[in-house]
Formats: sequence, C-alpha cells, structure tokens
Amino acid sequence: MNVESYDAAVIGAGAAGMAAAARLAERGHSVVVLERESSPGGILNQCIHNGFGLHYFGDELAGPEYAELFAEKLESNASVDIRTGVTVINIGRREGAEGRSVFAYCPTDGLLRFDVSAVVLAMGCRERNRGNIGIPGTRPSGVYTAGLAQRLVNVEGYIPGERIVIVGSGDIGLIMARRMKWVGAEVLGVVEIQPYPSGLTRNIVQCLNDFDIPLHLAHVVSKIHGRDRVEAVEISPLSDGKPDADRTFLLECDTLLLSVGLIPDNELSKKAGVVLNPETGGPHVGASLMTNVPGVFACGNVLHVHDLADYASEEAERCAEYAADYIEGNAERAQVPVITGANVRYVMPEAVFPGRENTLYARSMIVKNNARLIMRAGDRELINRRLQHVQPSEMIRFTLDPEVEEGETVEMHIR
Ligand SMILES: Cc1cc2nc3c(=O)[nH]c(=O)nc-3n(C[C@H](O)[C@H](O)[C@H](O)COP(=O)(O)OP(=O)(O)OC[C@H]3O[C@@H](n4cnc5c(N)ncnc54)[C@H](O)[C@@H]3O)c2cc1C
Repeated sequence: MNVESYDAAVIGAGAAGMAAAARLAERGHSVVVLERESSPGGILNQCIHNGFGLHYFGDELAGPEYAELFAEKLESNASVDIRTGVTVINIGRREGAEGRSVFAYCPTDGLLRFDVSAVVLAMGCRERNRGNIGIPGTRPSGVYTAGLAQRLVNVEGYIPGERIVIVGSGDIGLIMARRMKWVGAEVLGVVEIQPYPSGLTRNIVQCLNDFDIPLHLAHVVSKIHGRDRVEAVEISPLSDGKPDADRTFLLECDTLLLSVGLIPDNELSKKAGVVLNPETGGPHVGASLMTNVPGVFACGNVLHVHDLADYASEEAERCAEYAADYIEGNAERAQVPVITGANVRYVMPEAVFPGRENTLYARSMIVKNNARLIMRAGDRELINRRLQHVQPSEMIRFTLDPEVEEGETVEMHIR
C-alpha cells in the first residue's frame, strides 16, 4: 500500500472542504484533499443557478463559479495536494505515532494510506428519499430525489420526465420546479406537508408564481400509481394531521421529484468512532469543532445542513484554524457548553470559548414574526435580540462574546 504523510487530510472538496484546505495551507500546513468525484466543487457543481457567494465573495455567483474561485486558490498553493477520484473508506489510529491514518481507494492506484496529525471531515450530506418518508403505492421508475434530477439535467444532460410533481417546497424543490419548466417539462404542482412554504419567499415568487405552478400547502402525496413508470399520484389535503380521503385528487404525471430534506453523510464518521448528535445527524462538536475523536474535526453539511454555501465555507475556515492550533499543539482552551432551551431545535457548535467572539448557527422549532433570540448564563442575559422572522428551514447565524466562567452553561431560547 502506498503511504504518504501530510499535516492534515481534508475529506471532501465541496464549499467546506476547499475553504478548510485553503486556510490550513495559509497557516503553513501541508494538506491533502481527498475527493471521490472527478473534480472539486461538491454540490456546487450542479447548482448552475445564481445565489452563491454574496456573503463570502460579496458577489452573486453560480455554484460552479463559486467552486472555481476556491479551486483556483488551492491549485496555486504548493502546500495543498488535491486528489480527485479518491474515496476515503476508513480513518484509524496511526500506528506508533500521534495522529490518524486515513485509508482511501483510487481505481488507478489501489489502496492508499495518508498519515496525518489532523483530519477535517467535510463529506457533505445526502438526500432523504421515498423510503425515508414512506409514500404508499406501487414502486415504478420515475421517482427521483430533486438533487439527482438536478444532476441529470445540469451535469449529465438528461431530462428525467415530461409531467412532473414535486414533493417539498424547500429551496431545492422550488429551484427544480423552475428548472424543469425551463427545460420544457410540465410542472403540475409542488406539494408541501407544512401549512407554510419551507423555501425563501424570493424563490416562491421567482420559481413558482412567475410560472403559474400551484403550491399545495398542508397536502401530501398519499399514493403513487403506475406499473413500470409513474402514471399518477394521489394528493390529499391534511385534516387533523391525516390525509383527507374525501378531498383527495389525482394528478396524472410520469415523474415525482422528492425534495424532502438532507441528512449529513456520516457513515465514515461512525466507522471512525465519532459520536453523532441525533438532532443534526452530524457529529457532536465542542467550540473548536473537534469531535470526540482527538484530531478529527467537522464542518459544512457533514456537521449540520447549511442553507448557504457561504456559511459552510465560513465555518470550515474556523474549523481549519482550530485544526491548525491542534497540529501546532495549542489546542487546549476552556470551553462552556451551550444547550438548547425554548423553541430551539439545535445550536452549533455545542460549546463556546469564554471572553472571545464565537460564531453560532441555530435552527428554530417554530414559525414566528418578531421573535426574540435570548442567550442566558444562569440569571444573566448575554443576548436579547429581535429576530424579524424565524422558521425551522432558515438557519439563524449570530455571534456571541460571552462573559462566562468555566463551569457555567449557556442556554439559547427563541420566544
Ligand atoms: C440543490 C441545492 C441548491 C442549493 N442552492 C444554494 C444557493 O442558491 N445558495 C447557497 O449559498 N447555497 C445553496 N445550497 C447549499 C450549499 O450549496 C451547500 O450547503 C454547500 O455547498 C455544502 O458544501 P459542503 O462542502 O459541506 O458539501 P458538498 O458540496 O456536498 O461536498 C462534499 C464533498 O465530499 C465528497 N465526499 C463525500 N464522501 C467522501 C468520501 N468518503 N471520500 C471522498 N470524498 C467524499 C463529495 O463527493 C463532495 O464533493 C444549495 C444546496 C443544494 C443541494
């Protein structure tokens, strides 16, 4: 087996992995970036719509443009080695030395081992599918996840169907509704289980209203019909949380696109002994974004699903700073845990450094206008700030410079 040594290995070359690698190199460390696809960029490569980079680059870019700016940064840096077509299969202890060994497979070179001091997990997320939401009916072809359909259209050049129904009104579902219309398909409707849309208002207007695509709120697809190929789906309004059979109607279609959520891709993390947070599906991490496995850090969608590539990159840069501190032997710092209180689904990271600025990301469990974000330590309020609008699908980002002592706990509430 071929064995190579670097200061750090970054697994995945999406918006997070590339940002982490660039920052580690800026800190003077040698980095290998391991990416299973044939080019860097991750999910950005198939997102040919605009809407990336406003926060990070101050410019509105298409996904591939955003990826290209990072790839250029990495390719011109001699400390970074980007290896595409390489799939990481395991992470283990490094024999006879501190650090980790990362095992990978590449069709041309076979099994590879990379001995490193630190590992950054940046493997992104995967889509929930029909099995995750259990739609009854037959099992014909023509049922795709929205991300797969996006890849087929934008990268491979195939149109998955002609008469489309979409499940899920998050931004990916909305963007795919418009995309399918643009390639000449008929989009019969978007079905959303919640009584409110999950995506940005901008996307409701630009992707649905501008194309007269109906949005069925508080509805579900209650049955799929078809033998070889999807022939129709039954759509039911919810009444007391259950499909109302009396008001169910049929839409004849050949394709059903599912945009029903994303799950951090952590099979590899689990194998490496990383403990996962059931709320996010990603690793438990402290203030330095290090997992319970010493020297293994996580950022981007593998840690928790981000709405914006910019925030995934921003978080990854911070993760790289902490990984660099760890490599340099400067990692020990006091941390204070952050726990969730009223109406907060999760807050990430799960601890903060006292007396310095920490950036946190959180998701609300409620939909509310004029909400308040409250951070407390015991009886003291650290933050009490108005939030114009909160909803579960929109990430809340904020900074906290807490005057707290070791042994205290910070609580987050949304009221
Ligand atoms: C359809 C869609 C539309 C979006 N639209 C927008 C938008 O308009 N604006 C915006 O800002 N954000 C948008 N986002 C969100 C944003 O693109 C993502 O949050 C961000 O790009 C995620 O970056 P990442 O690096 O965490 O993950 P990814 O981009 O998924 O990268 C992970 C990489 O890891 C690789 N990998 C995984 N496992 C392994 C392994 N074992 N070995 C080697 N490599 C591995 C994968 O191949 C992949 O390249 C959108 C996301 C989607 C899915």
